[in-house]
Amino acid sequence: MKNQVVLITGGSRGIGAETALLAAEKGWSVVISYRNQDEKAQAIVKQIEALGQKALAVKSDVAVEAEVIALFETVDREFGRLDALVNNAGVLETACKVIDMSVARLQRVLTVNIVGSFMCAQQAIKRMATSNGGDGGSIVNLSSAAARLGSANEFVDYAASKGAIDTFTIGLSKEIAGDGIRVNAVRPGLIVTDIHADSGDANRPERLAGGVPMGRSGSAREVATSIVWLMSDEASYVNGALLDVTGGR
Ligand code: NAP
Repeated sequence: MKNQVVLITGGSRGIGAETALLAAEKGWSVVISYRNQDEKAQAIVKQIEALGQKALAVKSDVAVEAEVIALFETVDREFGRLDALVNNAGVLETACKVIDMSVARLQRVLTVNIVGSFMCAQQAIKRMATSNGGDGGSIVNLSSAAARLGSANEFVDYAASKGAIDTFTIGLSKEIAGDGIRVNAVRPGLIVTDIHADSGDANRPERLAGGVPMGRSGSAREVATSIVWLMSDEASYVNGALLDVTGGR
């Protein structure tokens, strides 16, 4: 395999970190971005380097355009190419009903989850599109089963943002297929990561596991395998797909 480079937003923890490690195991050079947690991001870089791959962590908020542009310029400088983008950075906030959601909260959640993914995709397309002199590539967006379940009484804002990611995936996949770029989404279900603590219930995956047809929550690794497959040439004819990784939920 040629020395392929993937950028994974939100790669310091959870699904993004597992995706970074698995991609490195499969031979990819890896750039991760993150928002706050410098030590966790550097620990992932060290683990990737121990696997013999090149890695870099860049502090960059996906909600801030100047930081997104700087992130991709760092990739240009340090790696000189980009073959895949994983739009993984995402947030949710404390569970509550729609009527109680402040506008500031709505703007935070929708900006990070939707606008952030759009801005990163724009930068990736500029580099990967064959019509811009690129070699083509792949974009994998992190949606959620919440996009079809709706997350009533908890975080309809988050669920709606993931519905937007599904539509973004379908539209963009058609728009840039001719540029050699495949665009797909993974829709995880109840996956054990830190994100649930942000809703106010760190044990949410365990609490709701009984409602999953397979009877358990999933691991970040079980999502990472789907993401890395979609990134790779093994998925060369998969475009515009929304892949549920939910244990059947
Ligand atoms: P997580 O454990 O909370 O990790 C979130 C990651 O995103 C961290 O690396 C964090 O960086 C980074 N991040 C957050 N806001 C950011 C921003 N504005 N700019 C850049 N990076 C930012 O989350 P996760 O559970 O792994 O979720 C990853 C993705 O999967 C999300 O899009 C989420 O919506 C989706 N998903 C998760 C589940 C689940 O059950 N876990 C289910 C469905 C979908 P810091 O470490 O610096 O804070």
